[in-house]
Amino acid sequence: MPRYEYRCRSCGATFEISRPMREAAAAATCPEGHGDTVKLLSTVAVTGRGGAAPSAGGGGGGGCCGGGCGC
Ligand SMILES: [Zn+2]
Repeated sequence: MPRYEYRCRSCGATFEISRPMREAAAAATCPEGHGDTVKLLSTVAVTGRGGAAPSAGGGGGGGCCGGGCGC
């Protein structure tokens, strides 16, 4: 049975699941119980694979008031 790797977007954990190929696209639940997971591909066939840098405005982790204020 093939193994598929998934990554949880809630806690960032990566985990593998052995499941039938016909269920490869089905949603996987992370070990922590989160349902917001994405399937990782072993082949580099997806555009934006290296775009892991945090994008502007994401998460609200900015220094000042969140950006767009000019301060
Ligand atoms: Zn999780």
